[in-house]
Amino acid sequence: MSYEPATGAELWRGAAGDVDALVDRGRRAWPDWASQPHATRIELCRRFANEVRKQADPFAQLIARETGKPLWEARTEVQSVIAKVDISVSAYAERTGQKKHDSALQGTSAVRHKPHGVMAVLGPYNFPAHLPNGHIVPALIAGNVVVFKPSEKTPAVGEFLVRCFHRAGIPSAVVQLLVGGPAEGKALVAHRDVDGVLFTGSLQAGVAINRAVASNPGKIVALEMGGNNPIVVIDTPKVADAAVLVIQSAFTTAGQRCTAARRLIVKASMYDALVGEVKALADRIVFDQPFADPAPFMGPVIDNAAADQLSESFLYLMSNGGRAIKHMKRPSEDLPFLSPAMIDVTTMADRPDVELFGPLLQVVKVDDFDQAIAEANNTRFGLSASLVGGGPQDFDRFWAQVRAGIINWNRPTSGASSSAPFGGVGLSGNHRPAAFYAADYCAYPVASTEMDQPRASLGAGFRAESRTG
Ligand code: NAD
Repeated sequence: MSYEPATGAELWRGAAGDVDALVDRGRRAWPDWASQPHATRIELCRRFANEVRKQADPFAQLIARETGKPLWEARTEVQSVIAKVDISVSAYAERTGQKKHDSALQGTSAVRHKPHGVMAVLGPYNFPAHLPNGHIVPALIAGNVVVFKPSEKTPAVGEFLVRCFHRAGIPSAVVQLLVGGPAEGKALVAHRDVDGVLFTGSLQAGVAINRAVASNPGKIVALEMGGNNPIVVIDTPKVADAAVLVIQSAFTTAGQRCTAARRLIVKASMYDALVGEVKALADRIVFDQPFADPAPFMGPVIDNAAADQLSESFLYLMSNGGRAIKHMKRPSEDLPFLSPAMIDVTTMADRPDVELFGPLLQVVKVDDFDQAIAEANNTRFGLSASLVGGGPQDFDRFWAQVRAGIINWNRPTSGASSSAPFGGVGLSGNHRPAAFYAADYCAYPVASTEMDQPRASLGAGFRAESRTG
């Protein structure tokens, strides 16, 4: 069952899937799919992109209804789904294509890539189409079959996505939908006929998956998890622009982006001007229903449980040394709309290093750049980080010293490109970045040396031949 966050109305209903039956069907379909010419699989994925293009409006509306994100933003998600196909075709060729070296004496040495088999794709709710699609398309192009379990909060979008693959002519056993929650996710991950697990979601679930497959090193596992991302502001005359970058980083998608800035680390010399400007902008943010006119900047968070948790986190920070700059307000207790909130936690003794997945920005004042870098690294996560202000030498230092998979300068922490690798270090991932590098975990390299005839001669260590007769 799923509900529209903005209204509380029921949106979708369906029964949990049968993991064994789906994996078994996928396993049987795999040899045929893997033996199709590569060009055929690409062509079918291009047809999939066309199907999504044809259905772009209803798809965006469904994403907006099921996640609560504004319609304009849901439309950008649909565009990312379409763009993924061409990007994945280039990525496959560039990252996992063929290499051959011919030599008269040694024959041919070749490196080619083979698909793993049955891939489990587990998706989150915040980008319920684009992120799982970012695993599914490269997996299909490489010759894998997929069992896709969308988030239990966004099954309708998952179902819509899978239908677009089928309408494009991709056999229904090659991309299958598994409806369900963590229980079905666990069963899928542990299934002995699943060769790989491509996961985007929370740290907690990622760690549980890592544990579940620990005794089976043969399964390839890509974990794309959360962050506690810093945006650092040092000296710049462009305070208004810096404030916009902070707002975009912290509050786009109601803060429900893995790359959202959770911590604004600001040099004391910039503090009053910058924090004042960010607060003034945050006060002007329109948060409303996804289809409201004029369009809102952000919608609600995903459900009432998430809104309760975020409100509690705000209170926790306040009662443990935080100073509210902008309170978190919830206009209706029955709906998960939250106003953007800011809290100064500079003097808080033990700041929890957790991902607060919503419109809540913690602010830390620092004396200098050294302290800013130390604060930026004061987390076990390492997904994204931005520096705003300073000059090229400052960014060089920031880039060299900050631990993260995405490090930007005078740009938001979020909004990463699909044409680049996308992944984090520390608790944010397991060194298997997605986006352009998804090709790497969808196929494994096979090294071969080849001669068209058997040809060999003995080396040292043999007695002289003594054949008689
Ligand atoms: P989640 O971890 O609750 O769920 C993700 C998926 O995993 C769902 O399909 C869920 O049913 C499944 N699942 C949960 N527990 C499982 C288990 N033990 N075994 C197998 N499957 C299990 O994540 P969410 O709340 O839907 O999404 C938000 C989280 O995702 C945030 O932490 C966010 O930072 C992260 N995220 C990361 C990225 C990235 O690329 N790094 C992108 C988007 C979101």
